[in-house]
Amino acid sequence: MSILLNLPLLMVEMNSTKTGNKITRSEQLLKKANILRDFLSRLLHKAKPIYLFLILAISIGISGWTVESNFIRIPIIGFHDIVDTQNRAEQPPKRLAFPTDYTKQNFSVFLEYLIKENYWLLSSQDLYVYFIDKSQPIPAQNLGQKPIMLAFDDGYKGVHENALPLLEKLSAIYKEKGKFVLFVNPHFLGVNMGKDFLAHTTCNDLRDGYQKGFYDVQSHGFTHKNLTKISGKELEFEIAKSKLELRKCMGDLDKNKVIGAHIAYPYGASDWEVEEILPKYHLTGFLYDDNLFRVNRLQNNYRISRITVDKDMSPRALISIAKKASTLRKKGWF
Ligand SMILES: [Zn+2]
Repeated sequence: MSILLNLPLLMVEMNSTKTGNKITRSEQLLKKANILRDFLSRLLHKAKPIYLFLILAISIGISGWTVESNFIRIPIIGFHDIVDTQNRAEQPPKRLAFPTDYTKQNFSVFLEYLIKENYWLLSSQDLYVYFIDKSQPIPAQNLGQKPIMLAFDDGYKGVHENALPLLEKLSAIYKEKGKFVLFVNPHFLGVNMGKDFLAHTTCNDLRDGYQKGFYDVQSHGFTHKNLTKISGKELEFEIAKSKLELRKCMGDLDKNKVIGAHIAYPYGASDWEVEEILPKYHLTGFLYDDNLFRVNRLQNNYRISRITVDKDMSPRALISIAKKASTLRKKGWF
């Protein structure tokens, strides 16, 4: 730029040496050229931040939601069994109480809040496609919503008997269909050994919830072994067999092969050896680290944060966690 600005000056200076008359005229020209040069120089200097801003704004406009989605916070909340306090058969001594139980009554308050407030109850594939892989833009109908994922580990019967009917009822009232993500151990499907052990859902329960459009069924390992305490063939068997059995149970219903595409680690435990095997079977892996999932902080698809729920958490506490979810904004900034 400086060379271009100096060119007229050089020409003026060359002409000015020829005659005395021309020197006066040349001096005038030189003065004008100097003024012009100073003006352009000042303009360009001042314009620099404006150019930078325009380039930034255009880039954000082009990439749209992708840029914004990097800063999205999504609470992923992990329940276990859901227990009806009004049903004596679900209370001690008929059924033992566990710290990870959550009551149907409290769950109902939380779920109604989410659905009434128009939250987007994500499936694990939604989370992967729109927020992790970002292979598709966030659907227009979900803009303005807050995303959240409700996960249920271990495949307990109480989820099917107590939580699913609530979701069905609320979905009918508010015309908003959300997903429950069930991380199950196929080895225990249909297993009900009595009061000291919690009853598990059957394959048919999973099919029922899935066909109604409410269940997303994913892996929690075949027999709920701590994956960091086994290795080699035993480790791969736990991962592979779980996916295989889930697909045997439900594969015919799932054209997109999404069932069993994701895993939540038993006890929330994973390590480098587990992560080395996972890409062969799963797209994502879920921890229990009590953190919000933040899109921009994810460095590894197999270390997705989840928040554990225990019996002492009030619906109000859960609602305050849910409120931390980002509201999805419209594409671009303009
Ligand atoms: Zn578990």
